[in-house]
Amino acid sequence: MADWMNAVREVDGEVFDLIRQEEKRQHKTIRLIASENYASQAVLEATASVFTNKYAEGYAGKRYYLGQEAVDKLETLAIDRAKALFGADHVNVQPYSGSPANLEMYYALCDLGDTILGMGLPSGGHLTHGWKVNFSGRYYNAVSYGVDPDSERIDMEEVRKLAHEHKPKVLLCGASAYPRTIDFAAFREIADEVGAYMVADMAHISGLVAGGAHPTPIPHADVVTSTTHKTLRGPRGGIILCKDDHAKAIDRAVFPACQGGPHLNIIAALAVALSEALKPDFKTYAADVVENAKAMAEAFQERGYRLVTGGTDNHLLLLDLTPKDIGGKPAAEAMEAAGIVANANSIPFDKRKPFDPSGVRIGTAAVTTRGMGPSEMKAIVDWTDRAVENAGDDAALAAIRAEVDEFCNGFPVPYTF
Ligand SMILES: *Cc1c(COP(=O)(O)O)cnc(C)c1O
Repeated sequence: MADWMNAVREVDGEVFDLIRQEEKRQHKTIRLIASENYASQAVLEATASVFTNKYAEGYAGKRYYLGQEAVDKLETLAIDRAKALFGADHVNVQPYSGSPANLEMYYALCDLGDTILGMGLPSGGHLTHGWKVNFSGRYYNAVSYGVDPDSERIDMEEVRKLAHEHKPKVLLCGASAYPRTIDFAAFREIADEVGAYMVADMAHISGLVAGGAHPTPIPHADVVTSTTHKTLRGPRGGIILCKDDHAKAIDRAVFPACQGGPHLNIIAALAVALSEALKPDFKTYAADVVENAKAMAEAFQERGYRLVTGGTDNHLLLLDLTPKDIGGKPAAEAMEAAGIVANANSIPFDKRKPFDPSGVRIGTAAVTTRGMGPSEMKAIVDWTDRAVENAGDDAALAAIRAEVDEFCNGFPVPYTF
């Protein structure tokens, strides 16, 4: 990568050095942050293209500025590829990221003060699903459902009960830290019982959905929102897919209601990522992500770790470190010192505080992109376990770090380094 950063090096040595530092870190560490991935060289190059210089408020054929020949073709291409990949009626590729996509979804479907029902943050939901410190919790009457205290899975009867009690305008499913399959058909059924719109936020799992490794929400949901940079492995961005009935409202909500000009360089990179996701080997990738997560889950359990819900169906695991007598934060810090990067995370019904939670969230999307398989997952669990056991012992962590460093060299990142 750095070899096509020559102009940055010449103009701004400070930023060049930071890019170089980050490239090294991404190559030299094991990336287990469940929301992260490695975009391909092709995606990165498109992100850096001259489309960054163009304004294109509006939609293909209906723009406010001239000079849109290539732009209109580009946006149409990205939309057509997303439709083909996910089987959606209508797609908007302009949302700046996952949170704006959710803002726009609410704007299209609700009025201020309407009731929304989504998964609570402490159970694995996202801030934008109605949490108090987020716009969604402030501008809407947000009600949250959680998980069952025993199974730690979404309790559909609780969702049904809350839906009947509160009659939400929008019933939202999707999560940021939930290791199990989401039953979209069941959410649709409940939404129909109470006359709610059914929305699925597939930000974390859209790559698995694209590759057929998680059931698709598309046939069930009125509107589906997603990021494009998590398991989907594209540029940082957002996307909204919907039924034809909502097409106009969604497009108007994105522009002019919530956004100005689209980030066309990102749309170019998204089109590239979608072409990658349409290739047969993306199906293999998605299946491998899940297989790797299952291999990791098994290896952690063999070492006495407790997994929330007892395992995984998707790309992520939630470790409960309570039986190991260490908090999630010191555990994640010990892992980082050993070259393994994940994040501390609350677990359902966490007895500790959000800034010092009991869990660590782990995802396999990025390590699978680097070509690692089940035997590497076992090695990673081994290093992780050693790091957690040796938290605070700098020499022991440095020794693991040296092994991880060597290991990473065998699995290059998917861009020229
Ligand atoms: C990551 C995430 C988002 C927000 O995406 P950003 O691009 O970070 O704004 C929204 N919903 C869910 C479920 C997510 O996991």
